[in-house]
Amino acid sequence: MRYGIFSDVHSNLEAFTVVFDYYKKENIDKFIFLGDIVGYGADPNRVISLLRELGPVCLGGNHDWAAIAKFDIDYFNRCAKEALLWTQKKLKMEDIKYLETFKLVYNEGRFICVHGSPHEPEKFHYVFDVNDARLNFSFFDTRICFLGHSHVCEVYSLRDGQIRRSKDYSFEILPQEKYIINVGSVGQPRDRDWRACVCIYDSDKDVVTFKRLEYNVKEAANKILSAGLPSILAKRLYAGY
Ligand code: ZN
Repeated sequence: MRYGIFSDVHSNLEAFTVVFDYYKKENIDKFIFLGDIVGYGADPNRVISLLRELGPVCLGGNHDWAAIAKFDIDYFNRCAKEALLWTQKKLKMEDIKYLETFKLVYNEGRFICVHGSPHEPEKFHYVFDVNDARLNFSFFDTRICFLGHSHVCEVYSLRDGQIRRSKDYSFEILPQEKYIINVGSVGQPRDRDWRACVCIYDSDKDVVTFKRLEYNVKEAANKILSAGLPSILAKRLYAGY
């Protein structure tokens, strides 16, 4: 099976369109979206339509859940909150109904998926470092956990009690290791690379590959400004932070 796994689109239609076109050429058998289709960006309705067209298994991110009042908006900083209140006004009933179907945890058998962390997934904790990874390794039984939320593409592997952190863009899953794989963000990367990040997991070869894709960042940023959203949300797209 070839899995297309991606996260954190954040209403960035320009980035998601490029990702959509890329995946369509990659013979993907199953798509899994790890959450946060909305929030921050200016195109909530159109990214939701595109997501429905792709038809992935969908996990709910903190922004998705807050947008439909399933999660406390006070969790967020001022800019995120402002964008969420704006998003709530834009969502149509069909969008809300779709977001309501998003799950918290998905188990594919050989791997699990969450938005933030396998430890208390409903609280959307982050996996930022080796200590966070260590805690979370004891909260899943499969070999791999795919997640997003921090918008930083990286991998933690556990072997004989030791955790290794890596930024490799292609690697083999080794039977003697356990993995936490952060697939980065499509629509608002924060690892100092502005390009959209996507992941493909080939379960026959047991190989994970990340890819960065250029998109029209100027268009996405200008839409944020035109919508009257906080200008920092436009600015950060250029630098990827
Ligand atoms: Zn996010």
